[in-house]
Amino acid sequence: MEHKLTQSVQEESLKALEHLISYASVLDEDATDTPFGTEILDCLKAALEECEKVGLKTFIDPEGYYGYAEIGEGDELMVILCHMDVVPAGKPSEWKYDPYTLTIEDGKMYGRGTQDDKGPSVAALYALKALLDQGETLNKRVRFVFGTDEENIWRCMDQYNAKEEKASFGFVPDADFPLTYAEKGLLQTYLVGEGSKDFELNNDGAFNVVPDEAYYAGDKLEDVKAKLDEHNYDYVVEDGEIIVKGKSVHSKNADEGVNALTRLAVALSDVYDVPALDFIAKYFDEDPKGTGIYGTVEDEMSGPLTINVSRLILNADEARIGLDIRIPVTAEKEDIVVKLSEAGEVFGLRYEEFDYLNSLYVPVESELIQTLLAVYRDLTGDQSEPISSGGATFARTMDNCVAFGARPEDVPVTFHQVNECMPLDNYYDAMEIYAHAIKKLACQ
Ligand SMILES: [Zn+2]
Repeated sequence: MEHKLTQSVQEESLKALEHLISYASVLDEDATDTPFGTEILDCLKAALEECEKVGLKTFIDPEGYYGYAEIGEGDELMVILCHMDVVPAGKPSEWKYDPYTLTIEDGKMYGRGTQDDKGPSVAALYALKALLDQGETLNKRVRFVFGTDEENIWRCMDQYNAKEEKASFGFVPDADFPLTYAEKGLLQTYLVGEGSKDFELNNDGAFNVVPDEAYYAGDKLEDVKAKLDEHNYDYVVEDGEIIVKGKSVHSKNADEGVNALTRLAVALSDVYDVPALDFIAKYFDEDPKGTGIYGTVEDEMSGPLTINVSRLILNADEARIGLDIRIPVTAEKEDIVVKLSEAGEVFGLRYEEFDYLNSLYVPVESELIQTLLAVYRDLTGDQSEPISSGGATFARTMDNCVAFGARPEDVPVTFHQVNECMPLDNYYDAMEIYAHAIKKLACQ
């Protein structure tokens, strides 16, 4: 791709990126005088500094949850929504280069945050700078919003939305090209009920992962094994513990995985008398679409409802089931909650919500999507259709907002991994695409 608009700013953009990558902006759970730790707050300040250099006016939330930088005139507000927090680097010894030093090697930029989300954020910022350098006039206000808790539970955006002006429209440079226009609603919840004095279970996995192992170490090993055999479920026994085997996938694709935990619960429910196990066996035995509770819930834009039984804790005090439910954009959350609560009640389980994220849906025919799509297709020649996804980006925190790039399909996913990297080509292409998009959407 030619970089007609942005070639002149490519080199200096790397300085800004280098600056941002140098912060280990990872959530500090023990932070007291900042919401998420000093590294995250410092990185937010650094991002605002970089925006000031480009000529934007900046604002930082006095409590430190978010910041933004704005330029332009007009009633309408176009938002480009980014995040400055990153996931931990993992084992530093497994990195080829220091995760917090931007390193360019073999045409790739290495460092934690290069792909998620500091690289794409700087690409978008310098896209705007290129337009300003060329004397383009903005007929709308363009605002970069920087979140600081994207990798966790988005408390930054709760604060932003409570306190700040609503966007007229916008995009999030934190996913794939061409763009994501639909994301399912995401409900993470517990069902809590009666425990058991006979044995304990401690399957405490992440909500967003289909468990590929589930553990039982009670004293009815032989009975449980017999039941697992009856069902033809894979398992191994190690040191007096049964480990049921499944296939792990992201919860958003729960219907493509094999849930080891529901399999264990099905076998256990034949051996023990625990209502929580009977509940799982009745409704989730090999049915990650929850049809036993909901019937078929599905739409053309976003696909089927999926339920992942992520966690199961059982002890003398309580049984606690953790569910990750992805709700199609046309379904009502309230409906989903009521039916689940009613089904649980029969087994003495009470509904205890953990987190909920709204669905995202912007019609493909909308001006925003048609404009972004046309820009992308013109520049790349790639005619791929827009994406609907069960995943979650910040786009769903604002109306008329979609996820737009920065990763094309042929660039490997490296975010959240060791040796996270973004190819330079990809970075410069994204910058050029963003420049054309901002020009179309916000310039005279
Ligand atoms: Zn991200």
